[in-house]
Amino acid sequence: MAAILVFSERDDIAWQLLGKAAELGREMGLGVAAAALGSADPGGYANRGAQKVYISKNEQLKTFEASVYAEALSQVAKQADAAVILIGSTRRGKELAGRLAQKLGAGCISDAGSLEVKDGRLVCTRNALGGATVATQTITTELQVIAVSPGLGEPIESPETAEMVEVELALKPSAVKVIARSEKGQGAVDIEGAEVLVCVGKGFTRQEDLKMAEELAEVLGGLVACTKPLATDEKWLPEDRVIGLSGKSGKPNLAICLGISGQVQFTVGIRDAKTIVAVNQDPNAFIWQMADYGIVGDLYEVVPRLTAALKG
Ligand SMILES: Cc1cc2nc3c(=O)[nH]c(=O)nc-3n(C[C@H](O)[C@H](O)[C@H](O)COP(=O)(O)OP(=O)(O)OC[C@H]3O[C@@H](n4cnc5c(N)ncnc54)[C@H](O)[C@@H]3O)c2cc1C
Repeated sequence: MAAILVFSERDDIAWQLLGKAAELGREMGLGVAAAALGSADPGGYANRGAQKVYISKNEQLKTFEASVYAEALSQVAKQADAAVILIGSTRRGKELAGRLAQKLGAGCISDAGSLEVKDGRLVCTRNALGGATVATQTITTELQVIAVSPGLGEPIESPETAEMVEVELALKPSAVKVIARSEKGQGAVDIEGAEVLVCVGKGFTRQEDLKMAEELAEVLGGLVACTKPLATDEKWLPEDRVIGLSGKSGKPNLAICLGISGQVQFTVGIRDAKTIVAVNQDPNAFIWQMADYGIVGDLYEVVPRLTAALKG
């Protein structure tokens, strides 16, 4: 039976995708398989909705290198009789999706923000024109490779236990030589998975004032994220905190935007938030076009009062 094959170098994203693949597979009459290549927890894939989980002991998969993984996945895809390949649209995943599609002669879409079946075909939406609009796209080749934005599916607990299939892969040594690796800074956080984001912008005039936002985030159990200028121009926060076109996207329950004008390159990263609250002193700022609630006022007055009120 042809299948939807799922892969992400991050297990949590692969499990989300398996939840989505189980739903799509039922609608399209396809089986569901996972490639747990390089995973430290292949057993964790057993009850996530796949009928088969492909694993490999190949040494070359110990570290992620896109060209090697593309070759490995192309071999697994053939074995799994994949009709659709879903990949987590992380930075690595996007590169991998393109390389894999090229190898398999398949059409490819990256950063798919939604995925549904219409007339038997998969239809995706993704941001276009710098986030100013949303394009609806389908792949016309028989085999489809789609890199799906993290957070699209929900992991499931399936009563059915997948068959573990160990594959022998013929992989050439990588043409890329890794000279050095360095750990991400200690402050690295997962803003994509956060339930609450307190986003800060240029309405803040000094780096030390960001403490106000950190306190608010702490009370709400959230994380501080920022607009691009705060990370790239001011260097007040690391670049992995940037929300938007050149940064990350989140799907938080709550996004609080403090001193942010609401340019589309930023808002594209939080437009899937369930509730958006803004504080801005400009009554005509773009952010009001998408805020559910807001306070027109000086954040230096509003934020400490908001935090104090929440502390009760
Ligand atoms: C190709 C490209 C990619 C980009 N990618 C990104 C991206 O990924 N993410 C991103 O964020 N930007 C990105 N940008 C930049 C983007 O266009 C905006 O310039 C940026 O988002 C603006 O950041 P800001 O809202 O913090 O600053 P500003 O636009 O300067 O807005 C500051 C806001 O703070 C308000 N304010 C000032 N003082 C106070 C106060 N005391 N109290 C309350 N409100 C106050 C002002 O009224 C204003 O609305 C990109 C741009 C380009 C060209």
